[in-house]
Amino acid sequence: MSKFAWVTLTTNDTYSLGALVLAHSLKRAKTAHQLAVLVSPNVSQAMRDRLKEVYNVVQEVNVLDSQDAANLALLSRPELGVTFTKLHCWRLVQFEKCVFLDADTLVLQNCDELFEREELSAAPDVSWPDCFNSGVFVFKPSVDTFAQITEFAVKNGSFDGGDQGLLNQFFADWSTADIKKHLPFVYNVTAYASYCYLPAFKQFRDKIKILHFAGKLKPWLIQFNSETKVASVSSEYAHAQDLIQLWWNIFCENVIQSLS
Ligand code: UDP
Ligand code: MN
Repeated sequence: MSKFAWVTLTTNDTYSLGALVLAHSLKRAKTAHQLAVLVSPNVSQAMRDRLKEVYNVVQEVNVLDSQDAANLALLSRPELGVTFTKLHCWRLVQFEKCVFLDADTLVLQNCDELFEREELSAAPDVSWPDCFNSGVFVFKPSVDTFAQITEFAVKNGSFDGGDQGLLNQFFADWSTADIKKHLPFVYNVTAYASYCYLPAFKQFRDKIKILHFAGKLKPWLIQFNSETKVASVSSEYAHAQDLIQLWWNIFCENVIQSLS
């Protein structure tokens, strides 16, 4: 068995749909490594059973809330407090190295080479490239690091109220210390923000390795016609139509039958 694992997180049955599609995308990309999912107590038993069909490890964790309502309100994303729960990933010490993937990511090509990178490797955030985006990152599980980050969080909070602000404060030299820890953008391409640079999105479309549906419009919220099996994407997101459709194709081919 591989000592490396892909790790994601889900705190409810809706994000679990993302986790299921993500797991199948990893399998389609023929990863050699294990799959682990952190689930909070809210995830139903029925959903955990589905997750167990594709994940090697389904680990229950407590919800760590940032309790930083003011900051979260600033972000107008109150639901992001639960992303502090991500920190539990450092406790998966049965693995030597892991790659965390948000449940709203989709792996388009084999990325097993990511395990050659060191903690903390991540790709730049599109809105502030001197910060990394915490939807995809390479880390080394360690109870010491977990304790250090949680202690740091209690002391310093998070400048954005979520895990991304916290992790960027903790791994503060990411943007300057070691270029090898800068993952190429193709490992975390934000599906919706790329309209800001649409020609690049088109030019490098086939090089995308991991797509990230960051933002409010998650693929599972997009209107889907169950008869024609076509996802209706508004013109604003037309450039990502085929990728949103791919999420739904995997959902239809690999996930839906296990849910019914
Ligand atoms: N998450 C979750 N339940 C929630 C919100 C977030 O399980 O209610 C997890 C899930 O893995 C998700 C990640 O935390 O992908 C980060 O949140 P999200 O992807 O919504 O943030 P964004 O990438 O849009 O900033
Ligand atoms: Mn995300």
